[in-house]
Amino acid sequence: MHFHIITIFPSFFDPFLSEGLIKKGIDKGAFSVSVHDLRDFTDDVHRTVDDRPFGGGSGMVMKVEPIYRAVESLRRENSKVILFTPRGRRFTQKKALEMSKESDIIMICGRYEGIDARVEEHIADEKISIGSYVLMGGEVPAMAVVETVSRILPGAVGKDGFLENRMNEEGFAEYKQYTRPEVFSPCEGVEWKVPKTLLSGDHKKVSQWKNKRKRIIK
Ligand code: SAM
Repeated sequence: MHFHIITIFPSFFDPFLSEGLIKKGIDKGAFSVSVHDLRDFTDDVHRTVDDRPFGGGSGMVMKVEPIYRAVESLRRENSKVILFTPRGRRFTQKKALEMSKESDIIMICGRYEGIDARVEEHIADEKISIGSYVLMGGEVPAMAVVETVSRILPGAVGKDGFLENRMNEEGFAEYKQYTRPEVFSPCEGVEWKVPKTLLSGDHKKVSQWKNKRKRIIK
């Protein structure tokens, strides 16, 4: 799996890609990520990526030409081109599972008041929204996609098969978890206890306990 990210703020991704499980997954070769500066695909001295909207209105709009050039330079036969917009299809765990079967994902991060609509009409295969709110840019959505999709790729997190028993076409099973100490006392007379079943060592009961409380993230 290879993720391409097209952005005007490539340095946003430096800490993201050099820490924690994302870095480990990349180092292990479970997936790879390349970040592309949209300004490298401009053809004027000012490296212009935006212009005023036709018909008037506030704010600037991202130009189609640099995005076209960037995508065409990266596109392979099996590439899936994703455009981030709050008007897109909602990104869910199910969508992440679907995306985890792709081999090459190209993500376009918008900024300003949006992107020339010819990008969604002629370049992108799909429009994705990460939620019903408007962010300043598509960089956080790109990070959300990389984290969610790479997490379910074989061998990316923990040992192979680590998460498989929690995941199916329906969604991803999540449940409450506890760790040491068994009893935590934040102040005198107050004790926050771990449920007894989890300390029992009885695997059947523990798994029943978990099953009863699990939430399927769809
Ligand atoms: N009117 C623009 C549109 O419909 O795409 C929104 C502009 S928004 C200020 C700037 C950029 O942030 C968008 O082009 C998009 O890439 C990204 N963005 C904002 N909210 C988003 C969301 N909920 N999901 C995905 N991307 C979002």
